[in-house]
Amino acid sequence: MADTEQIPESIAEIVPNFQVLKLPMVTRFRKITEREIMLFEGPVGWAEFSPFTEYDAAESSRWLRAALEFAGLLPGAAAAGPSAVGHSADTSGQSAAAVRSVAVNATLPACATSEVESILARYGPVGTVKAKVAEHGIDSLSGDLERLREFRRLFPSTTLRLDANAGYTLPEALRACAEFVEFDLQYFEQPVAAVEDMARLREQLDGLPVVLAADESIRKAEDPLRVAELGAAEVVIVKVQPLGGIAAARSIIEACGLPAVVSSALESSVGLAAGAHLAATLPRTPVSREILGEHPACGLGTGRLFAEDVVSADLSLSPVDGQIPVTRIVPDPQRLERLAVDPGRFDWWSTRLQECWSALRPSLPSSRS
Ligand SMILES: [Mg+2]
Repeated sequence: MADTEQIPESIAEIVPNFQVLKLPMVTRFRKITEREIMLFEGPVGWAEFSPFTEYDAAESSRWLRAALEFAGLLPGAAAAGPSAVGHSADTSGQSAAAVRSVAVNATLPACATSEVESILARYGPVGTVKAKVAEHGIDSLSGDLERLREFRRLFPSTTLRLDANAGYTLPEALRACAEFVEFDLQYFEQPVAAVEDMARLREQLDGLPVVLAADESIRKAEDPLRVAELGAAEVVIVKVQPLGGIAAARSIIEACGLPAVVSSALESSVGLAAGAHLAATLPRTPVSREILGEHPACGLGTGRLFAEDVVSADLSLSPVDGQIPVTRIVPDPQRLERLAVDPGRFDWWSTRLQECWSALRPSLPSSRS
């Protein structure tokens, strides 16, 4: 008898209706200028399914699991469904419902030194800034240093993170860390690409006080454990959809034992809402408090990268004074209509939804068990 006997083969029985949207970006990001997403509604609210279009069905099936969970549609997770995504208690007894907002970092892109002040002024008061470095690898170093000195002149006590997006080789990263240490970093995200090189870099830092965080090294459930086993980073950057949902992300974070910072997968406000729910219920440990402070900012301020969202600006999860609310988002029907993809792309996503469901289904417990 198949385990999946009680679970329908067709996703249409679980998700009969869905919307596919095309959101224009303000600037090119991850080589795209438009982001395609799918939205659907379940008993506990709207959810976003938005694996990048080049991801295959196996990988994208984890993103579908996350969306089904957040909508309250995940078979076999009925008991854990709404409570796990909305009101689960963490070790301190806090619940997402009790935490009304979470801090997010502002982002300082690779820009001219003269632009630092005006770019950050747009965010209003924020406690944490993440500066992108290594846009052109080590060739950017002198420009990065100049920009960060200007940042520190303007904001001497703002928490600073750096993100190299794997832009350095190992020797370059070592050199960059020795230079960046003067800026009193909270952490340095992914200086090098390979997780093994992250581990080597940590060894070679040899007492230099630079905390490494793994982002690109983490794309699926087993990756945070590998990062922890290799000692490749002291902080992990986690995203709800790639890890298969809020409950899965929470157990992965617990299993790896490292402080986690929740980040977005370049989502609309509907997807960001799932990230905010995870961020609001993350377990805090003494180590997490030591490295990330009492109210760690998450990387969920990416609403600003979109020219359009699924709700008006005042209802969106764009940060205000460095915070986003922990809430559910109900998309605006007029925007759903206006941002809809053409029929060809709708069909492509419809097929993809079923393929991802077929890939996910065997991993789900039967509703009878
Ligand atoms: Mg990053």
